Amino acid sequence: MSYLESHPDENGYFGRFGGAYIPPVLEQPFADITKAYAELKNSPKFIEDLKYVRKHYQGRPTPISYAKNLTEHCGGAKIYLKREDLNHTGAHKLNHCMAEVILAKHLGKTKVIAETGAGQHGVALATAAAYFGLECEIHMGEVDIIKEHPNVVRMKILGAKVIPVSHGLKTLKEAVDSAFESYIAQVDHAIYCIGSVVGPHPFPLMVRDFQSIVGHESKEQFFEHEDSLPDAVVACVGGGSNSIGIFSAFIDDKEVDLYGVEPMGRGEALGDHAASLTYGEEGIMHGFNSIMLKDDKGEPAPVHSIGSGIDYPSVGPEHAYLSSIGRTKVAVCSDDEAVEAFYTLSQHEGIIPALESAHAVSYAMKLAKTLGKDKTILVNLSGRGDKDIDFVVENYPIPNAKF
Ligand SMILES: *Cc1c(COP(=O)(O)O)cnc(C)c1O
Repeated sequence: MSYLESHPDENGYFGRFGGAYIPPVLEQPFADITKAYAELKNSPKFIEDLKYVRKHYQGRPTPISYAKNLTEHCGGAKIYLKREDLNHTGAHKLNHCMAEVILAKHLGKTKVIAETGAGQHGVALATAAAYFGLECEIHMGEVDIIKEHPNVVRMKILGAKVIPVSHGLKTLKEAVDSAFESYIAQVDHAIYCIGSVVGPHPFPLMVRDFQSIVGHESKEQFFEHEDSLPDAVVACVGGGSNSIGIFSAFIDDKEVDLYGVEPMGRGEALGDHAASLTYGEEGIMHGFNSIMLKDDKGEPAPVHSIGSGIDYPSVGPEHAYLSSIGRTKVAVCSDDEAVEAFYTLSQHEGIIPALESAHAVSYAMKLAKTLGKDKTILVNLSGRGDKDIDFVVENYPIPNAKF
């Protein structure tokens, strides 16, 4: 049996990571979701519907581009980019949001609920809800509402209701808590749509399967370019959905090195980064067992990254498992290195990457320099950087600016 068929087990465990640690009121709804997904995943109609929206609405397949100038600039292995920035709404998130909303409709739900940090998942889900005609409620911390103003406006234009969360640090973790509470109160007609390969079973499984299109396309497209597998695949890891999406097609190909890049933020001190796999320990948060960053009371630690979408104190359970068995390697990239890669990719290739994706680009550039010219690296460019341009130019001068 392939790796994907045999993981997770029927209770949603990847080794000892994963599971569903949920309050009793949610046991039945989650059992319903698990059952519905098991039916849907083999339903020809579901597969057809998803193929249709991906091709005719979302813009799939996204291409793989050879980054010739960047490769020459680094002077080593050839660097290729899987262009998830070219998805409608500008990132890989629509891959799982469209599918989650089809699932919601199949379950007879009229409303989708979610949290958002930077607003990317909120925008993608509001888009999918508008397309399929469902109500959409997005919970967002008040700090993020101010910081990510354009995405708040986007969600509202798309018809979503944005609920400000005003307790605690007023960021992502509190937004998750608030969305869960709201879901419990409306569980008869609503469904919670998680934004990454995190949360209780079956979400890490479902979101991985929905994102596996990225790996599936990549394998075929990479063969068109090089007539071989890549030597390394590199992706940034927040919750871990874009990375598991591209890794999924290569897990059984042991000769392909898989690198997950975590945000090193401002430095090694707790609170200055969000490198959960690098510095974390085993623990349960948001309904699943994984590797997380804890404070001295054992609670989820405050985290920081310049990439708001990868600023999370835990990580998807499958990543905890794959790194524990040595199948994936964990790398890090600081805020400053990410910004340098953001400008380098923009000026050498004409592609402005999301700050999250710039973490993967930065590590790939480092790796390329250590490998021979006969080697190849495939980077998952998870999103475009339009959302980040104002913040970046206000805080980091444009190199070689001409005006
Ligand atoms: C949300 C987001 C991420 C981080 O989420 P993962 O689940 O780790 O993929 C990375 N890149 C972009 C562009 C995002 O919007």
